[in-house]
Amino acid sequence: MGMSRILLGVMKYRQNYRAGMVKQFEVVRDDPHPKAVFFTCMDSRMLPTRFTQTNVGDMFIVRNAGNLVPHANLSGHEEITTEPAALELGCVINGIRHVIVCGHSDCKAMNMLHLMRNSDRTSQEIIKHSPLKAWLVRHGHSSIAKYAQLEVADFQAPLIFQAGTPMRRFVAYIDPEDKFNEEDKLSQVNTLQQLQNIASYNFMRDGLVRGRVYIHALWFDIYTGDIYYFSRQQKKFVDVSENNIERLLDEAKQYYT
Ligand SMILES: [Zn+2]
Repeated sequence: MGMSRILLGVMKYRQNYRAGMVKQFEVVRDDPHPKAVFFTCMDSRMLPTRFTQTNVGDMFIVRNAGNLVPHANLSGHEEITTEPAALELGCVINGIRHVIVCGHSDCKAMNMLHLMRNSDRTSQEIIKHSPLKAWLVRHGHSSIAKYAQLEVADFQAPLIFQAGTPMRRFVAYIDPEDKFNEEDKLSQVNTLQQLQNIASYNFMRDGLVRGRVYIHALWFDIYTGDIYYFSRQQKKFVDVSENNIERLLDEAKQYYT
């Protein structure tokens, strides 16, 4: 069933979509205008081109467990990961101006990270037995530290993130209406933490300082299908809806064009 479902899908693509897509590939090859580098979770429910209604040529998409982007200090000659390479390919080589990190609710990676947050097992032991846990512990550690600040303040106090430029900070109230469980709150913190990690790369700094590159956060609520955009103006995730779209577009126009 599993593989036949995929092969039959390929047949459906051949018969219905292939010709149209080849035409779009030609347009993109001759005149590429990619809009965003998009980091998101590998979760099978996350279909970013569908929920952003983007098409061939629009986005460079990088997916992994927990939509993590390693901090520059944890990524070097010794340990190369694909995420900073994708940032370089997108923003430096292809001149893409917007980087988006998109987290989501009921994220299995975040649920696991939440469960491990107080674990006293040594990281060496974890790394030996589970590459997934090793990945989460190593690159989710800073999100856990931020989340701990939130927990200490009984989920009320705002968090401060250092992103955009090394000098520019932004403030975030996490789930001020208290709609989500602890794991989902961690997922929101983790999504914002990646903005800080992306800004940690030297090759990104010039673009960020000059306002040539911007970093954004989205968050997908899998229970309702709502998509939230992190508004630096409103200091929180705001659902992108008929009620808020004008204000969010104004913010985008004012700060991110
Ligand atoms: Zn996930």
